[in-house]
Amino acid sequence: MHTPAQARVDLAAIRHNVALLKERASGAELMGAVKADAYGHGLVPSAEAVLEGGASRLGTAFVSEALALREGGVTAPILAWLITPGEPLDEALRHDIEVSASEVRLLDGIAEAARRTGRTAKVHLEADTGMSRGGAPPAAWPELVARALELRAEEAVEIVGLWSHFACADIPGHPSIAQQLEAFETALKTAEQAGAAGSQVIRHIANSAAIVTLPAAHYDLVRPGIAMYGLSPIPELGDFGLRQAMTLVAQAGLVKRVPEGSGVSYAHLFVTERETTLGLVPLGYADGILRHATGRAEVLAGGRRRLIAGRVCMDQFMIDMGDDPLSAGEEVVLFGPGDGGEPTAQEWADNLGTITHEIVTRIGARVPRVYEHRSSK
Ligand SMILES: *Cc1c(COP(=O)(O)O)cnc(C)c1O
Repeated sequence: MHTPAQARVDLAAIRHNVALLKERASGAELMGAVKADAYGHGLVPSAEAVLEGGASRLGTAFVSEALALREGGVTAPILAWLITPGEPLDEALRHDIEVSASEVRLLDGIAEAARRTGRTAKVHLEADTGMSRGGAPPAAWPELVARALELRAEEAVEIVGLWSHFACADIPGHPSIAQQLEAFETALKTAEQAGAAGSQVIRHIANSAAIVTLPAAHYDLVRPGIAMYGLSPIPELGDFGLRQAMTLVAQAGLVKRVPEGSGVSYAHLFVTERETTLGLVPLGYADGILRHATGRAEVLAGGRRRLIAGRVCMDQFMIDMGDDPLSAGEEVVLFGPGDGGEPTAQEWADNLGTITHEIVTRIGARVPRVYEHRSSK
């Protein structure tokens, strides 16, 4: 089927990035975060590349994402860490999906699902060490651990992991980092004294930023997300040898000469200063090209950078080619690794005042993901 735009995903880049992160992880196991459609790169093919690159586990936010991986034939261990009321826990257990618990009530719900399905639930207990998002706060942690041990005695649950998440790992030297590590140590000690730790139980806290800057946070397993897709977790410190996996391209639609003084797109935010050539790019805010990119982001067209001219519409935006040629059907590159002079996802993020996570995860379902360098296996 013809589509006027594609997100090309370089699976060799993902494999390279995962291998590089594994090398930096002090021998820890690697759980690749493939939530949100593998950060917009396409769930199953990306997950396969992540496993080929050296990950032994996968992590998702929701059970539905983990089930989609199973449906796609992925057999590796998967943890779903964002469990809210109504999550299909029975389904999760039937498909051998590990789940996270931050409170006793959820743990009891998981145990009920275990009894209903006749399976032992594999559980990771989450400690809130200072982010105040998920996780049991220090005052509730001993009770969560104690309940998990009771349920373990009944064989309703198996304690697979003890984990937490950093709030500021991408701000090296932020005082909360050392505080969170200390709080994690305390939580681990409590679990150990209660008999819930031990060599089988994996401890994990490091996201991409902590992997590249904080060896003390590697523990038994690391959980990279953004870096696997080749986007720097700490742009101020460089690219760490990572290679951007996604290239977003579109084929130019209408190309036309317009006179000086032509108001371009909604609200006429851009008016031509002289006779010029305009090119139509068939991607818009419905595809994740934020309306906020109007007049801010650049694309590569006809060998040169061009600013988005006028307002980004739902399905399209315009670029000003000046007197340079552009033919209908010619490729326009919105972002890529930068090798061909195209902007990177980091440049888009900087120009839009956001982070690369948001740039790539917002690319919409209308844009097909086209995979390059699939493994020969
Ligand atoms: C998204 C996520 C990660 C990966 O984070 P990055 O900063 O993209 O490396 C790791 N752990 C949890 C719990 C997450 O939600």
